[in-house]
Amino acid sequence: MKRNVDFKDISDGKLYSSNDMVRADCHNCEGCSACCRGMGKSIMLDPFDMQRLCKGLSVNFDGLMERYIELHAADGMIVPNVKMDGQEEACVFLDAGGRCSIHSFRPGICRLFPLGRYYEGDGFRYFLQIHECRKKDRGKIKVKKWLDTPDLKAYEQYITDWHRFLTDCQEAAGTLDGEKVRILNLYVLRTFYQSEYKTDDFYKEFYTRLSQARETLGI
Ligand code: SF4
Ligand code: SF4
Repeated sequence: MKRNVDFKDISDGKLYSSNDMVRADCHNCEGCSACCRGMGKSIMLDPFDMQRLCKGLSVNFDGLMERYIELHAADGMIVPNVKMDGQEEACVFLDAGGRCSIHSFRPGICRLFPLGRYYEGDGFRYFLQIHECRKKDRGKIKVKKWLDTPDLKAYEQYITDWHRFLTDCQEAAGTLDGEKVRILNLYVLRTFYQSEYKTDDFYKEFYTRLSQARETLGI
């Protein structure tokens, strides 16, 4: 999602790669669950998150839609996000002790926080969101350790390619009438989110779908 903010107002002014040290380590979030509450629709899910959630919870897309996720429009495209629930608007995955009940398969945005992604050229780098995390005594940690994501190189390439595809779809949607935008959105949802990923090789399946989608959509 695009954010209309000045980079220097929300960050420490630095951009980080996965091998850099960054002051993001909030010591296992002890006693705090602030960023798992009141997050609105901002815990957006990409297809890899969807596959991780379906596998971890042993449900399909419809099962997730029944309890855990919802759809919203972001820059013209429909994107799934994790639901917030109840008076406190707590994430549906937050347990009674204020801990994440799906920690081992939590979405990419949750792994990233309080870092963000800054897209530039053919990729992205990370930045530290200085106003977001409540812990004031955060320690330094290597970005790749903080992300806790296997095969990070492949993941980062996938994030870049998915971001580029969504951006291309958003640009295409801006030139289409309402009915065609609806058809485009249904196609992207069905292709990348609803259709089950059948093997453990997510990236291989994703790239097959991506090249078919680009051919079908002509983008
Ligand atoms: S999925 Fe887990 S880490 Fe992410 S907002 Fe929900 S409870 Fe917090
Ligand atoms: S605000 Fe910071 S310390 Fe609190 S739950 Fe979020 S990441 Fe952890």
